[in-house]
Amino acid sequence: MSHPLRKEIENLERVSSALEPSGVKLDNYFSRIQSFSQDFLDEINSKKAWVGEESYNTENLGLEQDKSLENVLETFRTQVIDQGLVPSSGGHLGYIPGGGVYLSSIGDYLAAVSNEYAGMVYPSPGAAAIENNLINWLKDLFGFPEQSVGNLTSGGSIANLIGITAARDAKGIKGALIEKSVVYCNQHLHHCMLKAFRIAGLEDLVVRHIELDDDYRIKMSHLKSLVEEDRKNGLNPFLILGNAGTTDTGAIDPLSEMGDFSESENLWFHIDGAYGGFFQLTEEGKEKLKGIEKADSLVVDPHKGLFLPYGIGAVLIKDAQSVLHSNHYIANYMLDAYQEESIYNSADLSPELTKHFRGMRMWLPIKLLGIEPFKACLEEKLLLAKYLYSELKSRGFEMSPEPQLTVLFFSWRFVEDEELNNQYNKLMLEEILKDGRVFLSSTILNDKFVIRVAILSFRTKLSTIDLCLEVVENSKKIVLEQIQNPSFK
Ligand SMILES: *Cc1c(COP(=O)(O)O)cnc(C)c1O
Repeated sequence: MSHPLRKEIENLERVSSALEPSGVKLDNYFSRIQSFSQDFLDEINSKKAWVGEESYNTENLGLEQDKSLENVLETFRTQVIDQGLVPSSGGHLGYIPGGGVYLSSIGDYLAAVSNEYAGMVYPSPGAAAIENNLINWLKDLFGFPEQSVGNLTSGGSIANLIGITAARDAKGIKGALIEKSVVYCNQHLHHCMLKAFRIAGLEDLVVRHIELDDDYRIKMSHLKSLVEEDRKNGLNPFLILGNAGTTDTGAIDPLSEMGDFSESENLWFHIDGAYGGFFQLTEEGKEKLKGIEKADSLVVDPHKGLFLPYGIGAVLIKDAQSVLHSNHYIANYMLDAYQEESIYNSADLSPELTKHFRGMRMWLPIKLLGIEPFKACLEEKLLLAKYLYSELKSRGFEMSPEPQLTVLFFSWRFVEDEELNNQYNKLMLEEILKDGRVFLSSTILNDKFVIRVAILSFRTKLSTIDLCLEVVENSKKIVLEQIQNPSFK
């Protein structure tokens, strides 16, 4: 007499086994996806970087089952890839460009197939070692001492959140002290810092914007006088935020002086290097980022500066106890996992417990290619920015200060009137986006609308920058013709 449940279980098994496709089926999927990916890569540099439409078609992206991989890929191509921004294009020169180094996708694939539990050492010593080795490499690169800790996060925002939380706990900022505590920063700090304050319960902090010099870097003299004045008024200065490249202007704050001052005042020094940090790999960058090693916490973003696909940021923190305070928690059901204490569990240094084994997407490309191609690519970006800057300048565009790294901005003087001139430069950007072969963004600095270029995609080459110049010139010409036309409003 067989058990009454056996039949029912066997019936369910017939359906659930679809979750484990046969080897033949996987082969078919895989070869189709491989050729799809190859086509994508072959075309990426000849396609537009921006596909703006009045309305996008997303009608087949619901959950209705479709057994045909061919159909699904076609929908993915037309309704996901070929609409909006194309982040993996070398023509992406807006915001902070993304990457998409192909070997990372294989790292992700292996991480997902094996599904290693990278959050703790006990279940996956190998995965934890890979992530730990990456953190150690970063500590070394940025001159952080051995006892520092670090974490690979989903991106720069969460990495900054971990840094801010550590600062909060190291300095005991809670309760009534919050309203009296002061943070000092460049007004062009990334908005994720303000989000981090809110999430960390620090919304009521006093935020002081430090005056900037002509290159958009904070002025040390103003920082010092603000801190002194705040202390005199009974406030509690606790945190200085430095930028290793602001998103808006690419400015590098005077990190070394900030670090010294922060130490002498017993403040926490946090550096956001999400955009510019990895230029540390180059000689020029290392010189410009001097003092980055003085940070108490530092954020860098491998999905920007190491050209990896979206989904990986990193934070380094000198004071391990401060991070453990907010993230380390031993639950009864996890006691087994705490016998091995030789290296930290990443789960103790982050809000995440179970997480994507994201170290693989960074480790595999470095393991297979070495670090040299990454260095060369960053150096190439620095030179491309200088080249574009001097070309635009010699063509008569009004220019930003010389790029400190790879962000620059420009405008054309169509008319004297500032407001009208802003309008015409907006029109010029619209024309650039209508063309779409390069994607540029904009910002507003001292009420002036400027078109902004950020060079950080590994696929941005000399030919891309020449194309950018051509598109900008054409767009300028179109606007000039428009405004000279008597029927123009
Ligand atoms: C991109 C960026 C961030 C945010 O990082 P995400 O990876 O987008 O979360 C923070 N700071 C700076 C300077 C950045 O450029």
